[in-house]
Amino acid sequence: MNDNAKNTALASQARARSYGPWPLSGRTRVFCILGRPVGHSMSPAMHNTAFENLGIDAVYVPFEVSDLSRAVRGLVALEIQGASVTIPFKEAVMDLVDEVDETAANIGAVNTLVINKGVIKATNTDWIGARRCLEDLLPIRGHRFVVLGAGGAARAILYAVTRGGGEAVVVNRSEEKGRAVAEAFGVDFSPFSAIERTEADCLINTTPVGMHPHEDKSPVSDTVVRRYEAVVDVIYNPLKTRLLTQAEAAGCRVAGGVEMFVYQGVEQFERWTGQKAPVEQMKEVVYSRLLDP
Ligand code: NAP
Repeated sequence: MNDNAKNTALASQARARSYGPWPLSGRTRVFCILGRPVGHSMSPAMHNTAFENLGIDAVYVPFEVSDLSRAVRGLVALEIQGASVTIPFKEAVMDLVDEVDETAANIGAVNTLVINKGVIKATNTDWIGARRCLEDLLPIRGHRFVVLGAGGAARAILYAVTRGGGEAVVVNRSEEKGRAVAEAFGVDFSPFSAIERTEADCLINTTPVGMHPHEDKSPVSDTVVRRYEAVVDVIYNPLKTRLLTQAEAAGCRVAGGVEMFVYQGVEQFERWTGQKAPVEQMKEVVYSRLLDP
């Protein structure tokens, strides 16, 4: 076989094998996630499935970042059009962008960057995922929610609850941080030691207790769980945490973290592309990855 014939054969093999769902080119729009670690993130599978499903020439890549400031400058230099921001950068990134919208400023954390003509705008879509997840379970208005934890996920949930006309009480391991977060959202605080006396309709775990590889842990006892009509765990790995198993056994309505995760991603996708996200396909790929990692 001469060189030309060899090259033609290689080219047709390469086309048949395909190096990904799309032929990437210089025109392919690039989106990414900035975090550390990011190897476990479901966002690349979710967004790439959505791009592929709608035939959008775009790709979403995970970046494990060691220097956030340089990474953020790199987004503009590389004409990356949007990014997700995850642990541990959700707060630190606020000082590195051109604009932080009111939602992200009120929540105190960013999970989404939209980059247009070199200007980086930061927002937060976690609260939209949280609102969707809660409203599927019970109306926010007129109900009282115990929020375990006072980190980024708790703040997104408190934003969704207070905006939605619900009441909340923060229960956190570190009392000082818990009180400060409760005060910022104008809600009550209760120490962990008083949780058995805390009245509410729904319990929401936003701590990492029970997350893989500590699936045998729960943040509260069976006695505590029995006090609630509904229980939410924002953890999505495993799909059913020990807390959700306790809650089902106690007859509570339950929701895990997948819906919250998918809907924050749906909102990101729609802001980046201006197109309606293929929600079912996004959910399907996340569930399939979680069931068969
Ligand atoms: P974070 O900012 O680090 O906050 C974690 C909170 O959990 C803190 O208030 C911390 O209390 C508390 N905590 C940690 N370990 C604890 C323990 N052993 N016992 C009791 N409390 C403990 O984290 P985050 O960003 O809010 O994320 C928290 C969880 O939510 C993670 O599992 C994350 O994967 C999940 N998440 C899910 C979604 C979703 O879309 N489903 C979105 C965001 C986050 P102290 O203040 O005392 O340290």
